[in-house]
Amino acid sequence: MRDMSRKQGASSPCAACKLLRRRCAQDCVFAPYFPADEPQKFANVHKVFGASNVSKMLQELPMHQRSDAVSSMVYEANARVRDPVYGCVGAISSLQQQVDVLQTQLALAQAEVVHMRMRQATSFSGLAGNSVESGSPSSKLTTPHSHSRSLFAMDMVVDQTNMGESLWSC
Ligand SMILES: [Zn+2]
Repeated sequence: MRDMSRKQGASSPCAACKLLRRRCAQDCVFAPYFPADEPQKFANVHKVFGASNVSKMLQELPMHQRSDAVSSMVYEANARVRDPVYGCVGAISSLQQQVDVLQTQLALAQAEVVHMRMRQATSFSGLAGNSVESGSPSSKLTTPHSHSRSLFAMDMVVDQTNMGESLWSC
């Protein structure tokens, strides 16, 4: 078995084998995904997951899924190195918050559109009541904005607890 892998010792080792100071075999599980010219890619994965775990995880997967698995492990490892407390959960959580903020903004904008359309419809249908409505638009337009700010602040607080629960449970 050793003799077989020894035959191709001429080619340079992959980034993983280089860091682990071992010979890179023909069937090295790391070689296709950790080229020698990207040493940092494996360094972080090794630091966070450990080389033998990465090797096991890759071997348990069919060939066509290994590249995606490596990409996600590299992403997770880099995030963990950058943020030792939250790792990629920090990124997911902040994106989730952005989604919630934007969804709130969208809902408010849609509500405003509905409100304006209704006002337009009523002013067209009853021109006699025009004088009653004329003073209100400016004051009505300012309320959604001040309201939205307080909603965002609330969302941030409420959301973090929700995020934590759903992330840790799965
Ligand atoms: Zn190798």
